[in-house]
Amino acid sequence: MSNSWQEAKEVLHTLKKNGFESYIVGGAVRDLLLNREIADVDIVTSATPDEVATIFLKTFMMNNQHETIIVRLNQLHFEVTTIRGETLTEDLKRRDLTINSLALDDEGEIIDLVNGEKDIYAKVLRSIDPQERMSEDPLRMLRVARFVSELGFEVDVELRDTLVRKKHFLKKVAIERITKEWIKLLKGDHRNSAINLLVETGMYEELPDLLLNKDLLEQFTNVGALKNESETICWAIHCLCIGANDETPLKQLLLSKERLRGVSSRLSYYKNRKKNEWTSLELYQASIQVALDVEKIRSLLKEKIIPFQELNLMWEALPIHNRSELAVSGRDVLRFFKKEQGPWLKEVLSLAEHLVVTRHCRNDKHAILQALEKRSDEL
Ligand code: ATP
Ligand code: MG
Repeated sequence: MSNSWQEAKEVLHTLKKNGFESYIVGGAVRDLLLNREIADVDIVTSATPDEVATIFLKTFMMNNQHETIIVRLNQLHFEVTTIRGETLTEDLKRRDLTINSLALDDEGEIIDLVNGEKDIYAKVLRSIDPQERMSEDPLRMLRVARFVSELGFEVDVELRDTLVRKKHFLKKVAIERITKEWIKLLKGDHRNSAINLLVETGMYEELPDLLLNKDLLEQFTNVGALKNESETICWAIHCLCIGANDETPLKQLLLSKERLRGVSSRLSYYKNRKKNEWTSLELYQASIQVALDVEKIRSLLKEKIIPFQELNLMWEALPIHNRSELAVSGRDVLRFFKKEQGPWLKEVLSLAEHLVVTRHCRNDKHAILQALEKRSDEL
């Protein structure tokens, strides 16, 4: 059992000592039975968030989720949610799929009201009363495809039929919920089965903000495994698969500005690097992380790449790696040229970087100032 289980059990014991019922639920129990690595451990309890907050030393409320509080124990975080409905039975029956409706008590006993364990071993995604479940929260339909991708399970006939019938409800789902599941779907080991499901049920047509169509979906099936790749790489791949060469299609997806910037820089270096090489200046401007990501993207798209080791050596061999390593500062330049500060200073410093990185000048204060002076008419 991994460390997080020990800690989670401690949370359960502490709640019990204080007179509250509590269980580990959802994905963690499923993944335990499947021997998969556990992403996060969710806990439900009869205590309210306020009560949980008084019991544990470190807790945080979550934005927009009034029923859930985060408990922090020995560097680990647990989402602790008040049991929905009156009883655990009601709570478990409200969950999306039978495989996600299992609970584990503090003694290690599994509570299974919907034959979820049987479905796990039979590798089937099933929902109790699928029409009701899928209409209630249409995101669940995309979750089905996501779990196909992650687990390689079959979709039960009745559920599959429901996906076809209710797929139009997907249009009502908030885009930020869709994107979270989409990334997980892209990362799954069985991505192609999930994409087949999207095509066969027609669900893909109801995910308009992702700008997917049938031909584009085929592009995703040719991409290498994304399991261990960053979300930034996944979104860059997404853009390239849908035929975009910049991040424009992502702007409607409400991703963070930082994420958009990350995708944007990778795509622009990807696009510009037509020849199979990096110049010193490109590498310096990109930084090693972005350059390695660009090569990764190329390898995921089965294009010829520069081996990472070679790129790392090139990076190490650069005379400087960022502006702070430059032997002159803005202050040195101001003093030397005896001019007022202004936009020219930025240009001079970037010329200095350029000269040093391309080895037209040594990284030495005197040498750089002299070289700049020679070129001062260009400035
Ligand atoms: P992961 O391993 O990616 O965390 P998970 O199954 O734990 O997968 P979460 O999104 O963490 O998924 O949700 C935790 C549990 O909450 C699920 O296992 C499921 O029981 C329930 N759940 C989550 N989202 C929904 C939903 N939209 N509708 C119904 N139940 C849901
Ligand atoms: Mg989870």
